[in-house]
Amino acid sequence: MSQLRLKLLEQHRTSLEKCVYCPKLSRAACPVSNVEANETVTPWGKMSMAYFAARGDVPLDAPHADPAWACSACYACRERCDHKNEVATVLTDARAELFARGLEPEGARRVAARFRAREDGRAGERDGRAQPDPAAVHVLVGCGYERHAPDVARDALEATEALTGAPVRPVRACCGLPLLYAGDRPGFEAAARRLAAEVEAGERFVAVDPGCARAVRVEYARAGVSVKSPELFVDLAQASLDRLQRSTSERRVRYHDPCQLGRGLDRYDAPREILARITGRPPEEFIHRREHADCSGGGGLVPATRPASSAAIADGRIAEHRALGGGLLVTHCAQSLRRFRTRGEPAEDLASLVARAVAPR
Ligand code: SF4
Ligand code: SF4
Repeated sequence: MSQLRLKLLEQHRTSLEKCVYCPKLSRAACPVSNVEANETVTPWGKMSMAYFAARGDVPLDAPHADPAWACSACYACRERCDHKNEVATVLTDARAELFARGLEPEGARRVAARFRAREDGRAGERDGRAQPDPAAVHVLVGCGYERHAPDVARDALEATEALTGAPVRPVRACCGLPLLYAGDRPGFEAAARRLAAEVEAGERFVAVDPGCARAVRVEYARAGVSVKSPELFVDLAQASLDRLQRSTSERRVRYHDPCQLGRGLDRYDAPREILARITGRPPEEFIHRREHADCSGGGGLVPATRPASSAAIADGRIAEHRALGGGLLVTHCAQSLRRFRTRGEPAEDLASLVARAVAPR
């Protein structure tokens, strides 16, 4: 047998072999292969390529590395798989090994470089900052909201302050998820340690963006970084339903399950209960919902590495929303929100609806 090329095989052999010898039962679930119509980017194809690369059966070069980045980390294949195979996790680990060899696609390299440049700028700010108020609630809003939807970032902070009844302090550090998806594992681990140190003091820590929340709750442990586990914004709002006032101005609302909140953190009822409380009726649904909801195309760095595929995935969701009768499209994830808005659908985030509805204590 050829010499082992990637450590991936030691850690993930069972998952990889399940896919390689499988009749591809999860094929129809994958948003990327559905829009690219290419067997190589089905869950089976991506896992097979990672397996062959790990065994040394194919050259370790950029074309053979590329499929590892053709995943939006949506976990939809896991729900269709009899083995509940964690394809996204295996591909995330494959990215790390390939990135370390300089085999990442240009889009991933760009994201990692931009992240590092931003962090260098923030380091000076951190050094000069006053000691935080220990009574304040640390709120990890998420860089996706801060940079691309500052309206939602403000709403999320105001709503958290109203729901907790305590002053809030936005967390300055980024959770590092873009680096994890790019494949820059040392960079991700450094970001994780920075964030863990920042939230260490203080009683409460709340995460708004479910991608950040899952990264801190799940991926930090995989990286060996211990951190205070964040409360979820949706859980806070769900626990205070009686403080959410019925809005007379909200239109017919359709809820899109973000992959990171639904399959990533198992939150399906909370956002629906919140919307029902605010609008006075259960939200409209997509054809596929909850565990089987379709991805928006915003995750896993796919917008940077495969922009046309990402846009086509988002367009599919928007077309379905409109074909089902339209209304206000509501989601709760910075990446999904950005995908919908940049593709022409004036979507809103659940955090904004909560901010408008929550009554002061
Ligand atoms: S994820 Fe499951 S169903 Fe899909 S190819 Fe792998 S083993 Fe088969
Ligand atoms: S996690 Fe989602 S995008 Fe990745 S292989 Fe599975 S279905 Fe495809």
